[in-house]
Amino acid sequence: MYTLSKFQGLISIAFVALISWMAYVPLKTPTPKTANEAPTSFSAHRALEQLKVIAAEPHSSGTPAHKKVRNYIFDYCKKQGLDTRVINQTGLRQFRATAIAGNTLNIIATLKGSNSSKAVLVMSHYDSQPNSPGAADDGSGVAAMLETISLLTKGPKLKNDIIFLFTDLEEVGLLGAEAFANSYEELTNVGMILNYEARGNSGASFTFETSTENGFIVRTFSAAAEKPLANSLAYEIYKLMPNDTDFTMFKNTGISGLNSGFIDGFSYYHSMADTPENINLGSLQHQGDLMLSMTKYFGNLDLTETKSEDVIFFSLFNGNMIIYPLSWDIPLIVLTILLFIMVVVIGLKKEQLKLIHLLAGFGLFIASIAVSIGLIWVIQQLILMLNPHYTNFYSNNFYNAGYYLWSVIGLSLFSFVIIFQPFVKKISVLSMSLGSMALLIVLVVVLKYFIHSGTFILYVPLLPAILIMLVLITKTQLPQRYHQLGNLLLLIVPLILWVPFVYFLFVVFSLSLPYASAIFICFLFPFLLPSLPAVTQLHRYLPVSIAGLMVIVSLIVGQSSSSYTKAEPLQSQLCYGLNLDTNEAMWISPQEHQDEWTKQYIKTSTTAKIDDFYPNSTHQYWRDKAPLTNVATTRIEMKQDTVINNVRRMTIKLIPGAGTTVLNLWLSEGAYFKQIDKRKIEGDSQISVLRYYAPESSGVELTIITDLEAIPTLELIESKWGINEKLLTSPLPDNIVFGTGGFSNSMLIKRTFVLSY
Ligand SMILES: [Zn+2]
Repeated sequence: MYTLSKFQGLISIAFVALISWMAYVPLKTPTPKTANEAPTSFSAHRALEQLKVIAAEPHSSGTPAHKKVRNYIFDYCKKQGLDTRVINQTGLRQFRATAIAGNTLNIIATLKGSNSSKAVLVMSHYDSQPNSPGAADDGSGVAAMLETISLLTKGPKLKNDIIFLFTDLEEVGLLGAEAFANSYEELTNVGMILNYEARGNSGASFTFETSTENGFIVRTFSAAAEKPLANSLAYEIYKLMPNDTDFTMFKNTGISGLNSGFIDGFSYYHSMADTPENINLGSLQHQGDLMLSMTKYFGNLDLTETKSEDVIFFSLFNGNMIIYPLSWDIPLIVLTILLFIMVVVIGLKKEQLKLIHLLAGFGLFIASIAVSIGLIWVIQQLILMLNPHYTNFYSNNFYNAGYYLWSVIGLSLFSFVIIFQPFVKKISVLSMSLGSMALLIVLVVVLKYFIHSGTFILYVPLLPAILIMLVLITKTQLPQRYHQLGNLLLLIVPLILWVPFVYFLFVVFSLSLPYASAIFICFLFPFLLPSLPAVTQLHRYLPVSIAGLMVIVSLIVGQSSSSYTKAEPLQSQLCYGLNLDTNEAMWISPQEHQDEWTKQYIKTSTTAKIDDFYPNSTHQYWRDKAPLTNVATTRIEMKQDTVINNVRRMTIKLIPGAGTTVLNLWLSEGAYFKQIDKRKIEGDSQISVLRYYAPESSGVELTIITDLEAIPTLELIESKWGINEKLLTSPLPDNIVFGTGGFSNSMLIKRTFVLSY
């Protein structure tokens, strides 16, 4: 045993804090540039002026505000001298028996290059969610595109054509992008796609997705972008999640591309509070910096060949990326395993390690992870019990969510200390540390199967750590200070790589799944273990006090910032359902818990199904009786009704009632949609459910087939955005706004049509 100086414990704590902070700093956003910035670089303040127009009000497809935004973008691009068009196409996507479709109005503006190899397609969507001005999502992308256009037209001509594509109907299911990718005849001339999104209103812009065979584009991205933030694990995690962006619709085209977005400030996502005033200008600056630098770089690059072997990549500090071929992955994993075995064998031979101690380390590591997850679960339940209104937000992410990350960190460290500290005097920490690393080694092998290019996240920190362990075990005669130095060096790579993931995963999953973030803190335990005795030496209760204090302070600060205000409003969901078949009306709220405002409309104490109103609905909702009202409803016209080979084929036209932005349609058994506007349903798909978005006032034509015996019915629920003011007897207080989704601030009107001869 070595005698430990008190100094060493303090150094260890300071070292961990310093390296963690250094790992976090690159995730900060750049300083926004002023409007007076020279027209060679992107200015967030200039883009903000565009954003104020684009995100002045909610502008979901089919609304008058949407038309205003479209005209603004169109006029701006035209004025800048770009070849600008609005393309009107039907977007269509099929999912088993359901189809979604819509009348899309994409804006395409081309800046001609001097000698184009292939075009660069820069893309963002200009529609917003119905209950959100969409400043970040995706006004930030649109505003950045307009600022980029203005800078490019002032600068030297680029070689390649730059196509600026402002897509429509993204929010309802990527329909604008689908229509464009499906039928834009010049797509074969596109060599690179750059898509820009936002899932919150702050944080740095991550390039979270690439096309396949990404070697060339990742290397060029790393060279082109001012501050590239990307890694192959984030990409693998994104692939596992149900999220999609417009970029998804271009995957099948085989065109190379990159997808970037900022994701912090998740409470503002799809919210009425996603306004130009609330957007983080640093995020807008970073998004714009990326867009401008990448457009310029790819704009001058020969894009005829953009595919090369897949790579593993990750950002380290500001503007540096480590990139190596995916084919190195398995050799590096094998090397890690072999080195690990070698260290264990040498350690056992030299009697520096004991098998029983290694096993103890392995077992204690599993126990500490389990305790950590258990404690976090308890605290998560407690927080949500005290604050049921958090569940009104995506992932239970209220505005103060960041404070709770400190509870997750504190609870994980608390578990680490209470599990391992009792043993550090009895069992060698090196044995326990290596024993726990064995679990990480097993994980590398298992994860290689699931997250193909993401296992670097484990073996890259393990490799240097195992080598340091080798030195510590074989050079026992080295002075104590070298051993202490070794203990600290072990921590550098894990902290640098994992601290961003602790933050990143908490931002993504927040209080709905805080364990995701905790796992990366737990992974640190084997590396923290060798430094634990030094800290314990300062005072035996010091480690547990630090962890406990983190939790307590985080919970107090979290609770004291838990109320909703005008600046940080509660999101609340309420809609009005009118059943014209039965002449009944009801209030519906899909929230998990009612809030003070919805309670004024819905007085029941339990939730219930709404399948008597909304076909095939399985969820439980809050519902109560509502007064009847008069609304303009959709008309139906039979255009054609023929029988060929015992199949009845009819074409109907739905002429939407004023203000109707969605037509939800259900056909009775045996009847199927065959054509929607000009788009034919592919193959023999039996589509009986259709959601049609943003119908033109002139109407939507649908072709339906059915066998002769049946007289089919068509159930229609049309949706109008905004609840009639006469019905809203208790208007929203100023600290509550309408939340997101189809069952919020909408009027749903149901009517069943019999399609008789
Ligand atoms: Zn979006």
